[in-house]
Amino acid sequence: MLTEPITYLQRCLQIPSTNPLDGEENSAVYVYDLLTSHGVETEWIEVSPKRICLVATIQAGASAIEPKTIGFSGHLDTVPVKISEWTTDPFGGNIEDGRIYGRGASDMKSGVMALVSMMLDLNTRTDLPNHLKLLITSDEENGMTGARHLTERGDADDLDALLITEPTSGFLGYAQKGVIGVEVSCTGKSAHSSSPQLGKNAIDDLYRVIREIKSDRYAITNHSHPELGPVVASITSITGGEGPNVIPSHAAFYLDIRTIPGFGREQVLQALEEVNQRLRQQDDSFSMEVTVIKDIPSCETDRDDPFLQIVADTMESIRQQPTQRVAIPGGTDGAMFSQAARSFPIAVASFHDFRLAHQIDESIPLSEYAETIELCMRLALHSYD
Ligand SMILES: [Zn+2]
Repeated sequence: MLTEPITYLQRCLQIPSTNPLDGEENSAVYVYDLLTSHGVETEWIEVSPKRICLVATIQAGASAIEPKTIGFSGHLDTVPVKISEWTTDPFGGNIEDGRIYGRGASDMKSGVMALVSMMLDLNTRTDLPNHLKLLITSDEENGMTGARHLTERGDADDLDALLITEPTSGFLGYAQKGVIGVEVSCTGKSAHSSSPQLGKNAIDDLYRVIREIKSDRYAITNHSHPELGPVVASITSITGGEGPNVIPSHAAFYLDIRTIPGFGREQVLQALEEVNQRLRQQDDSFSMEVTVIKDIPSCETDRDDPFLQIVADTMESIRQQPTQRVAIPGGTDGAMFSQAARSFPIAVASFHDFRLAHQIDESIPLSEYAETIELCMRLALHSYD
């Protein structure tokens, strides 16, 4: 394997970019400088202060007949680090026994730098069969605001296919669940707790909502996807009350719902509205409000899509073993890119081991990095009909 891609990855791991915000911009500067100093046309896109996305493009060769635009994507932010728990420097990029260590080694600075290495390698070629478009995002680990911003700008509208090099341990991801996070709040009327009849207890009302959601009447979790499994819903936090001797005028909980293709935001909100209607029928002073806090759609590419087949065959030819297609329980930026004006197949795949993603002493074997670069190169050079 060439030494440059390893050096690029090491350098990238040495620049902390943990999310919530800590240095994401610095790692974007590094990658931007690397791409532009090698002549790759790259756009610097500020999503919000210190949140940066990059879009780098290479045009197909003049002799290419009806070239396709093949998209590649990865995120530069990582989850945080508790340095005291690590036995190696999380920002050292140390290499030991063929493994490279650091926060983001698995998820997913290796994926990003494999793509950057591919772009640097192919930029001087004049015979490319495809246009190549690299979308590097910020804030994937928190709200996917980077990918959302690029999608809203239309940066994905010209793609014919997209590969996201998240760590998948050699599996090929074709579907993923979405996330809807809502705050459900009840408003009552405060009063002295010695005279509760003078007020309206918002916690009592919220309790009634919770009872409805936990009952069979709220049947959203009956919806299921053959590979992703059922919709799941969990109350993950609860707040309310003004003081020990005050009838509470406000109470709220946060409901986290993992959705599937065919059952998303609209259906979730409809089911909650039905709860609202039922409770209002029982008590016309009942007041419930639903605020959407998080909204990441689910997405799915047809298992038999020709691009997926090409990715699977390419992985198989590199690893010499069959590529298994999987549904991904977590989310990726693919969710946002799937909302582009034009639809295209999305494959989530690399050889990078996902078992140490988000973990202490995160690391991957460098051999997997070399395999992923090979995968990206072959997909970039493939002639798509
Ligand atoms: Zn990731």
